Amino acid sequence: RAKAINRGASQYFRAEMGIDARERFKLLKGLRASFEERRLFVVYQPQVALATQQVIGAEALLRWRTSDGQFVPPDQFIPLAEQSGLIVPIGEFVLRTACFQIAQLRRNGFHDFRIAVNISLAQFRHPGFIDSIRRALTDAEIPGAALELEITESMAMEEISTVLRVLAEIRSTGATVAIDDFGTGFSSLSQLRRLDVERLKIDRAFVHEAQSSAAGATIAQLVVNLGCSLGMRVVAEGIETEEQRQHLLALGCHEGQGWLFARPMPADQLEDWLRNRPNTSAA
Ligand code: C2E
Ligand code: MG
Ligand code: MG
Ligand code: MG
Repeated sequence: RAKAINRGASQYFRAEMGIDARERFKLLKGLRASFEERRLFVVYQPQVALATQQVIGAEALLRWRTSDGQFVPPDQFIPLAEQSGLIVPIGEFVLRTACFQIAQLRRNGFHDFRIAVNISLAQFRHPGFIDSIRRALTDAEIPGAALELEITESMAMEEISTVLRVLAEIRSTGATVAIDDFGTGFSSLSQLRRLDVERLKIDRAFVHEAQSSAAGATIAQLVVNLGCSLGMRVVAEGIETEEQRQHLLALGCHEGQGWLFARPMPADQLEDWLRNRPNTSAA
């Protein structure tokens, strides 16, 4: 199993990044140091109902600023963290940070606020994963329903018995599950149906292509129909324009996330942003 993860990651580096082993090692050393020195932090991007633009929650996204002030994008350092196993403690940090953030927002009047946290395969398979979720919820004193876990489409298509077992354990904590980047992998529709998860997130690529190409539009429509017919909420990620919002809404998509509504932002800004919105229910 561990071998399979490593193989996947090293292929990724060879194909996509073109950086050599020495650079990779340097980057990983920097990442480990930054994690220990608490230079990793979490930003939050609001998610809204497409029709009303009412806020339904936010997604937690990890950020790394190096000691010399440079930002390294997650697409570069997350694979490194996954390959090295460092994603397990880092992922737990994100989970706990997000849970404490939910607690604070709920205390400050946003009673139903929910945050989604991205989960890597190594975390999903880790024997301590469910305990770490329970601990984070208990320590932050929030209900499981305030937390959503995003797993990628390829993780959802791992061996069915394992996926079903972990999803059942997640469900027992009260947390919900979303399938991220949907449309980029190869899904078994029968497996997808058996997973019975709450949300399907259409990958940004199809949100953009939905307007520029007929094939993109077809895929977006198929994903929306699929999600709807399986009783899932469908979220479109990477919505940048009003035209895209209207198009996705017309396709039947429920929710959206993207620069049109808000960029990912630090926790304190999120609270201000929520407060200054006409449509937010800070009851
Ligand atoms: P993702 O989970 O699919 O997150 C959505 C990505 O789309 C984020 O990129 C977000 O900043 C970006 N985005 C949102 N709206 C727009 C838009 O309108 N236009 C464009 N062009 N982009 C938009 P980000 O933050 O760079 O993260 C990239 C990926 O890194 C994430 O994709 C996720 O797979 C991974 N990631 C980020 N944080 C974590 C984490 O804490 N744990 C794990 N395991 N993975 C993470
Ligand atoms: Mg995500
Ligand atoms: Mg995504
Ligand atoms: Mg993505």
